[in-house]
Amino acid sequence: MLALVLLSAAVGAYFMLTYGVVIDRTMMVNVLLTDTREARELLSWRMLGALLLLGALPLALLWRTPLRWATPLRQTGQNAILLIASCAVLAGAGGIFFQDFSATMRNHTQLRYLVNPLNSFYALAIMGRKPIQRSGVAVAPLGEDAHLPALAAGARPPLLIMVLGETARADHIGLNGYARDTTPRLAQERVVSLRNVWSCGTNTAASVPCMFSNLGREAFENRQTNTEGLVDVLQRAGLAVLWLDNQPGGCKGVCDRVPKVDYKQLQANGADLCADDECFDEVMLRGLDERIAQLPAERRARGVVVFMHQMGSHGPAYYRRTPTGFKQFMAECTTNALQQCPREQVVNAYDNTLLYTDHFLASTIGWLKQHEGAWAPAMEYLSDHGESLGENNLYLHGLPYRFAPDAQKHVPWIFWLSPTFEQQHHITQGCLARQRDEQLSHDHYFHSTLGLLGVQTQVHDAGRDVFTSCHAGAA
Ligand SMILES: [Zn+2]
Repeated sequence: MLALVLLSAAVGAYFMLTYGVVIDRTMMVNVLLTDTREARELLSWRMLGALLLLGALPLALLWRTPLRWATPLRQTGQNAILLIASCAVLAGAGGIFFQDFSATMRNHTQLRYLVNPLNSFYALAIMGRKPIQRSGVAVAPLGEDAHLPALAAGARPPLLIMVLGETARADHIGLNGYARDTTPRLAQERVVSLRNVWSCGTNTAASVPCMFSNLGREAFENRQTNTEGLVDVLQRAGLAVLWLDNQPGGCKGVCDRVPKVDYKQLQANGADLCADDECFDEVMLRGLDERIAQLPAERRARGVVVFMHQMGSHGPAYYRRTPTGFKQFMAECTTNALQQCPREQVVNAYDNTLLYTDHFLASTIGWLKQHEGAWAPAMEYLSDHGESLGENNLYLHGLPYRFAPDAQKHVPWIFWLSPTFEQQHHITQGCLARQRDEQLSHDHYFHSTLGLLGVQTQVHDAGRDVFTSCHAGAA
């Protein structure tokens, strides 16, 4: 038991001090849901050194300590005295400092996530009580009445690409006014970037299921059952839906009931884009026509929605997310122990990932334009959460939502609509542009996407649909 406590303390101390994270329930979910590739990226010599010093050394001392057992009766008596004395000290100290202690804990609830290693054990216990999945394995259906109005004669079916971004922060997007031009190619396209959008969670496992839900952040947090989400409702409306995943972590359950292509399968199309069991995001555009052609024909006739889950700006090894040609901001931090790099180098490596995302999104728009003859194409891009890049010594993401800095919650949301799409769906980008600075959040993602495609269902909430005012304007 003591060995376990010492080891947990060493690991907890290393991550808390290196990245400025705290250990709470959601962080523990991330630990349990991670995969070898993601975990491997966090390993470093510095970590080994820290674990040797903080973990192995005390363990060695612990194991060298001889255990001398008294007779059972005597040992029980000794243990009992020790227990009572410990409780008395605890009660005494608690009594003397109770006012300070309770006030501090009340005003700074986050402190309990810092009590190492109790924070890890506490998070595990909480998870046992409040598991990630609610109410066993059953998933309640959503939007069973979902349908699309019939296409007008001569109209082209919609072809929508939904890019699910990873770790992109809104204030580092050139289109949003960032001092560096991280979006030179998107700036050449007719896109609308909503600049005041806030995420549902501060990490992928928390944000993704929440943004695909119809509930919104608060109701989602308090939900009692597992319910289907956006992907299911689109499928139910009769559209041909496909999920491409360039992340080994997968889609966190939101794409379980539609055809999907995982990162291993994507590698078959990208010998030049993949290395080390990882591909650059462009691989998702390879062979896309063939993949779409395999979807049911009667669904394709109503429209196609392709989700692309990016690797994006996944840290801490940002430098591994960009091909050589996109390393415009130099020098880059090339270690995962981000605190060892000057801050500018961390920011450079991160900004280069956004430059590559810009290229990927513009290439996606390019691909869509080639399909304008037979389809009404559109693209929507939204990031799952942001990232801390060393501000106040914080790195990465995943701080509890209430006190996470804006950098971890402020995300980009970008639309591109072809003229055909605008005309057929009676919406204009100009109407979207008027909402550029309105405060929006992941709560609007589900409803706006239904609104964009014109899916009709009772679960659509017009109040959370950014296109509602566009339709009103057109009417
Ligand atoms: Zn993420």
